[in-house]
Amino acid sequence: MDTLKGINKKLAIVTGASRGIGRAIAEKLVADGFFVVGTATSDSGAEAISAYLGANGKGYKLNVADAADIENFIKTAGDAHGTPAVLVNNAGITRDNLLMRMKEEEWDDIIATNLTSVFRMSKAVLRGMMKVRYGRIINISSVVGSTGNAGQTNYAAAKAGMVGFAKSMAKEVGSRGITVNTVAPGFIDTDMTKELSEEIKTALLGSIALGRLGRPEEIAHAVSFLASEQASYITGETLHVNGGMYMP
Ligand code: NAD
Repeated sequence: MDTLKGINKKLAIVTGASRGIGRAIAEKLVADGFFVVGTATSDSGAEAISAYLGANGKGYKLNVADAADIENFIKTAGDAHGTPAVLVNNAGITRDNLLMRMKEEEWDDIIATNLTSVFRMSKAVLRGMMKVRYGRIINISSVVGSTGNAGQTNYAAAKAGMVGFAKSMAKEVGSRGITVNTVAPGFIDTDMTKELSEEIKTALLGSIALGRLGRPEEIAHAVSFLASEQASYITGETLHVNGGMYMP
């Protein structure tokens, strides 16, 4: 297991840690004993992450849709903290539109932010993880990647793509002690779902066996498990956390 420079703790990187699911994951990993490097899209977001993590982590500004930004971030964070034991690719966005109306940039933004970012971030941490022959990469997908959703062809394609990516990467790097898994949340009570109309929310609740939206902490617990020693023989797997909305 890697040791942080000067701090005898394990290192985890969580993208999109300023709020919602990412913040819950960062806080849970801190509770598990990790030093967490969390990323946000703005300087103020990075400062807010540093403030809530205190001595147990640090916030950095990062646009996961930008290749050069990822390269700089991995170098800066690596120089400061060392090789991450865990990478959680959580950052994600939606740009909903019916396919007939979907603009090229709505497609491109979603693929760049939700999928190409996972390729770039995973590749960027891989050399270090291979050297220490240990790593846990956990990607936050979505139930929509399995079920599809009208108005979300771009998002569903990106989220389903993450699953194939994780399975393929898992086969490439398993012999080096690195696992790659996916967590697929259902509908979780965050800023991303706050804008749904009451009508859509009511229809959604009817399709969820547990009859409620999930809480960010409930996704964080699944990530915590996959990052733990208890999950040492699980790789290429997708853990569905959706209250029984979708049962593969
Ligand atoms: P959120 O909008 O509250 O948070 C998204 C996070 O990603 C924010 O911290 C944001 O700053 C960050 N982000 C956005 N664009 C970025 C970029 N270009 N570079 C770096 N960071 C960026 O949403 P959330 O609900 O917490 O979603 C977190 C993840 O969970 C996303 O990948 C989302 O697709 C997925 N998810 C959410 C739900 C849900 O119901 N909320 C369901 C399934 C999957």
